[in-house]
Amino acid sequence: MASRLIKHISQWLPTLMCLSSGGAAGLTATIAARQAEAEVKLLERDAHPAGITAMNQGNVCAAGSAVQREASVEDNAERFYEDIIAKTRGTADPVMARLVAEASGATMNWLIGDLGIPYAVELGWGGFFGHSADRMHALPSKTGLKMSEQLQAAAARAGVDVVCGAHVQILYALFAMSNKRNQINST
Ligand SMILES: Cc1cc2nc3c(=O)[nH]c(=O)nc-3n(C[C@H](O)[C@H](O)[C@H](O)COP(=O)(O)OP(=O)(O)OC[C@H]3O[C@@H](n4cnc5c(N)ncnc54)[C@H](O)[C@@H]3O)c2cc1C
Repeated sequence: MASRLIKHISQWLPTLMCLSSGGAAGLTATIAARQAEAEVKLLERDAHPAGITAMNQGNVCAAGSAVQREASVEDNAERFYEDIIAKTRGTADPVMARLVAEASGATMNWLIGDLGIPYAVELGWGGFFGHSADRMHALPSKTGLKMSEQLQAAAARAGVDVVCGAHVQILYALFAMSNKRNQINST
């Protein structure tokens, strides 16, 4: 699953990409980009990559992960998607909601299997915040700080070039998201 995800991402990558953000979003994106053999630089404004990620609890919701299956939790992307739409009373962007729901299980498998981040599914959590299944995955420490440290270590192993003290002021966006939207709309 993880290799399919990386292959999917690699279709969109230029040879060199720069990402701003040393939070979870920037770290995971740059690690995936390196695994797809792109040359990447992670540009972080602060002296250390941390962001809000290092202040959170490190919990990640994902549907259809291997650890859910091992714990006999019944869940899938369609159910996650329906929960998002119900909880937001239909106001969530359906394309984004479906993308998150469909990618979440493979992403969790990638975090655990490829990056070695020890997420486990929290049993008894289903029912909270509109989730109809036990799909909250947590770290033993239950801290985003640990998550951030482990992502930084994975980024270093993957060869991500992290540049701190780099305040990005201009962004050039690719069309990956609009292409994905067109793909989804046309199926
Ligand atoms: C108390 C709390 C608990 C939370 N708990 C959870 C939880 O358990 N599970 C969950 O999924 N979500 C949780 N959240 C939300 C979650 O933390 C955020 O949605 C997530 O961390 C955002 O990650 P990010 O990478 O987008 O941003 P950030 O982690 O904030 O990273 C952004 C990075 O970009 C850098 N940056 C900003 N501007 C520039 C620039 N111009 N140039 C270069 N670099 C720049 C910043 O310095 C920062 O390092 C919680 C939030 C809070 C506040």
